[in-house]
Amino acid sequence: MAEKAFHVLKDGSIVEVLIGNVTDEIKHDIFLCSGCEGACKAEVIPVREGPRPCFRIKRGQHHKSGCQNDESLAAQIRRVLDHTGHTTSIEELYELFDRPQVEVVKKEKRKGTKENKVNDQDDEEEFDDIRAIQRELKNPKNLRELCALFSKSSLDDIYAGMKIGDIFLDHRNIADIRKKGIPEGQLAIVLCAKISVERIKKLVPEVPDQAIVLGDAYSYADKEKQLLCIIPCTANAKRIIFNSDSKKKIIAVFGRWHQDPFNKSVYTCEPIKEGRVFCAEESFYEW
Ligand SMILES: [Zn+2]
Repeated sequence: MAEKAFHVLKDGSIVEVLIGNVTDEIKHDIFLCSGCEGACKAEVIPVREGPRPCFRIKRGQHHKSGCQNDESLAAQIRRVLDHTGHTTSIEELYELFDRPQVEVVKKEKRKGTKENKVNDQDDEEEFDDIRAIQRELKNPKNLRELCALFSKSSLDDIYAGMKIGDIFLDHRNIADIRKKGIPEGQLAIVLCAKISVERIKKLVPEVPDQAIVLGDAYSYADKEKQLLCIIPCTANAKRIIFNSDSKKKIIAVFGRWHQDPFNKSVYTCEPIKEGRVFCAEESFYEW
């Protein structure tokens, strides 16, 4: 919540202003985010009412990657994460997220812990919190955190020795990926969405047992070039994808992808468990 912003004056010059100094006369003027040492310049609006008056991002506007005034959930998650990945690798994270959560749930039940504890690393969680307070940056511990990190980073940034744009397929690079494809056998997170049964029947006549078919999340139903993802997965992963809240339209799938030899826009990933899928509302990926 920014208390300061740039006020654009009539002559086009800008001057920093505190939210408390925004008067009725200027409240409809243009204000720009002064984050990233003044480089952000996303349009913001003054919110003078409420317990914490501040400047908020204008609808449709986006903070620069890393802007301290970005209050979105993904930006907040990213702040406690290491942005370089120098102590991990994509392979390592891929293996880590594969941890079978079903066993964890059973363990929890045995222990009689509360339902909001989602894994068996309570001690580690606490430790993580302390580390966050000490401002030590950690590696993502699940796909949700990794998606937050990548969606709020530039696709040209390097993470764990790889260009983020090569391993995270979202609205920014999907058009490119549709053209050049995903390199054979590469690990990548594809943001997917459900597609109709009719379309699946038409485009993927033979869906392997235990697999589901999703499309990339950034295409219209009638667009031919949409990437189609055949995802062999466990019953639990399926349950997460199909039973999730209907608002959670974007399904991130962390897979090792292989292109169909006969249909260049169809990819199959190696079998995955629930830790390699993450469902979120579209707003999670607003950058
Ligand atoms: Zn900003």
